[in-house]
This record gives sequence, structure tokens and C-alpha cells, in this order.
Amino acid sequence: MKKLEDLILTYKDFPKKGIDFKDVLEILHYPNIFQDLILKMSSNQFLKNAEAIISIDARGFIFGSAIALESSKPMIVARKPGKLPGHTLTREYDLEYGKNSLSIQSSALKKFNSFVIVDDLLATGGTVNCVSSILQDQKKQILGLITVVELKELNGRLKLDFPVESLISL
Ligand code: AMP
Repeated sequence: MKKLEDLILTYKDFPKKGIDFKDVLEILHYPNIFQDLILKMSSNQFLKNAEAIISIDARGFIFGSAIALESSKPMIVARKPGKLPGHTLTREYDLEYGKNSLSIQSSALKKFNSFVIVDDLLATGGTVNCVSSILQDQKKQILGLITVVELKELNGRLKLDFPVESLISL
């Protein structure tokens, strides 16, 4: 019987030399394990207290939308630039392997006051910090981060001023 831990595959030197890429997509090949993971990710208290989920492009959408269904919470998205129509709020940040930026639709953000952030993996914390700084600029409350994997040596959670729940710490 496979366990969740067995389904996090490591690809050395992807997308750049020196990066051990942790691929979570194998989880989706095992619906029972995926379902169990979503139940666990949906059961924490800070999610219960949040008005909405914000999930991060692109693997965050997979887990975020399943958690949104399971927890009956609305979900909005943070996307890579040029993907969202209408007025957006955008910020650039440093990634473990390069630079990126994320945008959120102003009209979506306006509807809710408190959020839980969902992503597949926490590495340096730059991505989540980018989302949280856009939210904080708009005076929104962030109750926590829920993520499948945390790379604990990179100390991403130390950058964040809200609780982190990761299902697997590597
Ligand atoms: P960071 O901003 O450094 O915390 O990086 C987190 C984001 O980048 C997540 O959205 C991940 O999907 C992706 N990411 C960063 N490092 C890795 C890695 N080693 N393996 C897989 N995904 C990663």
C-alpha cells in the first residue's frame, strides 16, 4: 500500500542545476490518498475561521479547489502575470530558482476579509509572502497557510507571521 510520503517524487536538477524538485502530482494518481489528504487539509481550525481560501498558481489550484469544496469555502486565486482580466493587484518576488510575480483580481479580493492561503509546497516562503503582502496592503487578514510539502531547511515559515500547516515536512 502506497503512503502519501511515497508519492512526493524528487527530480534532481529541475528546473535548474542544484534544485531538488519535489513533484506532488503523483498524489493525483491515487484518489483515495488524495481524498484523505484533502480531508486532513480541510480540517484545521484556521481554515474554519477564514471567510475564503486564496490558492496560488498553478499546483495550489488543485489542492485549493478540492479544499474549497470539502470545506464549503469560497476560493479566489493568485495567478502569474497576464492571466487575469480586469483590474489586478500585482507584486514581484524572488523564487528559489528565479523571479516571478503574482496578481489577484481586485474585485475578487474585495468580497472577503479573512483568508487562508493554499499552495502545494513551501520552500523559501517568497511566493506565500508575495500573496500575503498584497493581502496585507488591502488590510485583509491572513489566518494561515496550508501546504502539502514544506522544505524545512529553507526556513520559509520564519518569513511568515501566521501559522503554517504542512502535511509533509522534508
Ligand atoms: P518559495 O517561494 O521558495 O516558497 O517556493 C514555493 C513555490 O515554488 C511553490 O508554488 C512551489 O510550487 C514552487 N517550488 C519552489 N521550490 C520547489 C521545489 N524544490 N520543488 C517543487 N516546487 C517548488
